[in-house]
Amino acid sequence: MILLDGVTPPRDGTGCLHSVPWFTARLGGALTELTVSGRDLTLPEILSGAIARTAEAHAHTCELSHPRTPQATVVLTRWSDEAVEYLVLSDSVLLLQSPDGAVTPVLDDRLDRLPRSALATDALIDAHLRNKEGGFFTAAADPSVASRAVTGALPRHEVRALVALTDGATRWTEKFHEGDWTALLDLLAKEGTRALVERVRELELADREERAFLGRSKTHDDATAVYVEL
Ligand SMILES: [Zn+2]
Repeated sequence: MILLDGVTPPRDGTGCLHSVPWFTARLGGALTELTVSGRDLTLPEILSGAIARTAEAHAHTCELSHPRTPQATVVLTRWSDEAVEYLVLSDSVLLLQSPDGAVTPVLDDRLDRLPRSALATDALIDAHLRNKEGGFFTAAADPSVASRAVTGALPRHEVRALVALTDGATRWTEKFHEGDWTALLDLLAKEGTRALVERVRELELADREERAFLGRSKTHDDATAVYVEL
């Protein structure tokens, strides 16, 4: 299972001729191919290889050292008869449900742990925190970022279901507090992924007037959920 969430590019450019969808399609294609062909590779090796392959595709035309070069969050999982392996980079979330129903979130919470300041403009974040030591990391053009991902493995019989969520979908729990991770997984199991996205959209619309009043930005964020029962 592969979930990518492309980072919204700034208006003043990314140093790249390509779009974020171009980037995520390339990266996703390379991840898919390497996950199948590279059975002997670890998930960080697969991510590293996919980033390198994607970077090669536009290294000659684009400035890949630009801090806002196209980039994405990543959730990557792979399972066999014996084990479930996982990798999470940046602010998408993976939920693992055990056969007794317990739900464990796998989070790369570097972004949440950064001190929030009114002075933290996008330019300062790009200069000091984005893909920088002490900041947070996304899949962009540097293959070594794969070593920063949160990774692990569990025996297959200890996992009943897997859920991958972009930050637009985790809003149901993290922003609107409609229920905890267990409640979110129950909603997906009973009503499906579309129901979760629809609930988030309803909550966002109800919240929109207040946000406009406070001058905050995006009403919506890309909301994607993947639910897998093993
Ligand atoms: Zn490019």
